[in-house]
Amino acid sequence: MDRRRLVFFPLPLQGHQTPMLQLASILYSKGFSISIIHTNFNSPNPANYPDFTFHCIPDNLSESEASTEDLTLLLHNLNTNCVATFEAILSQLMSKFDVACLITDIIWYFTQAVADSFDLPRIVLRTNNPSSFMAFTYLPLFREKGYLSAQGTQLEEPVQELPPLKKKDIPRIYTRFPELNDEVTHKLMETTKAARGLVFNSFEELEGSSFTLVRQHFQIPVFAIGPFQKQVKASFSSLLVEDRSCIPWLSAQPPKSVLYVSFGSIAAIDETQFHEIAWGLAHSKQPFLWVIRPGLVRGLNGRAPLPNGFLEIVMGWSRIVGWAPQEEVLAHPAVGGFWTHCGWNSILESICQGVPMICLPFFGDQMNNARYVTDVWRVGLRFEKGLKREDIEKGVRSLMVLKEGKEMTQRVVVLQEKASLCIEKGGSSYQSLESLVAHILSF
Ligand code: UDP
Repeated sequence: MDRRRLVFFPLPLQGHQTPMLQLASILYSKGFSISIIHTNFNSPNPANYPDFTFHCIPDNLSESEASTEDLTLLLHNLNTNCVATFEAILSQLMSKFDVACLITDIIWYFTQAVADSFDLPRIVLRTNNPSSFMAFTYLPLFREKGYLSAQGTQLEEPVQELPPLKKKDIPRIYTRFPELNDEVTHKLMETTKAARGLVFNSFEELEGSSFTLVRQHFQIPVFAIGPFQKQVKASFSSLLVEDRSCIPWLSAQPPKSVLYVSFGSIAAIDETQFHEIAWGLAHSKQPFLWVIRPGLVRGLNGRAPLPNGFLEIVMGWSRIVGWAPQEEVLAHPAVGGFWTHCGWNSILESICQGVPMICLPFFGDQMNNARYVTDVWRVGLRFEKGLKREDIEKGVRSLMVLKEGKEMTQRVVVLQEKASLCIEKGGSSYQSLESLVAHILSF
């Protein structure tokens, strides 16, 4: 019998595309055929997925529009530019195959109307976690209550509606077009309510109460089937070229001695922050592997120049790369800590490898995620009062050599075990995946 086909439409950003392709691989292993529709901006490499069919649609972004500097504008343009071409390719696929459903990133809100017009069920993947999703959901309420204009010490006040968040942890997207941001958020929430299911790359044991809130609020089937990265062999979805030279370097370091430092694919810092980070790391005297991707320092497209005298100090005991094979790095026995911007994939990858964290959140869901890492799971620390080299030096030493860091390691190892157990037969994510498959087959 022919396999039923699923059509996926990932958002073309690293932190969104990776989990979508992982979900496609998981569902392929459950007996479905897979078609991927993707934009030419940040397109995945089909050669890495020989079992899938790939269909590229033009996104019509100009060179300046194809930039992550203003995410709101990018997301709005993508949702506007792709409608006709997406509709045409979906129609072709439906005339050729028995398509069971469409699975898109939640941010592709325009696809709900297209799916409805074809009478095709749409399931959405939210690539960040349920707690931050609830924080996004409550944004209109937070605005009404004045939380979004909190200043100074008010930022430290608790958000009564969503403990343990503080006002400074509420999701923020920096954009030149705030009214567009409200429109994007509103459309995304409304079309989610019309979807036939909502999938998260997380698990009940990690965020049970947030899943309950999401279920109450959205009233559609919610599937907690993560961590995806533990269910697929390897992800081949890197959009930048990985510098693998760090792996043999790590292999020459003692166990748990290296701090891995990476702020993901989008977050950008200014030059002062860059220098504070560099000197904080150098003064901590702990070996580190630092990812300085092109564009990490705002306004500089290439690799930012390091402060004078820095390389002479750290050469020989530390390493800098432009992009790392992150999952492999975190799994390496030499890595004992992860200084992260708190993107959801990074946090989950760290938990899956039992690595404690230092949190430096920048925007969007990252402040929410950092709060959970430090206050709920207690597997990381955060610089709550700005980014000063003295605090960085102290924080790095706390995580890597002091009792505080050892205790965090013990706690993150407990989460790592839970992450392994939930995907085994009878585990919460295993069962949720079975229900998702049954749900899709019932369409
Ligand atoms: N990543 C990587 N190499 C790096 C830095 C990041 O492979 O040097 C991957 C990382 O493993 C993760 C993704 O990029 O899967 C980043 O996603 P995340 O949600 O953490 O952050 P975002 O980039 O979306 O802000």
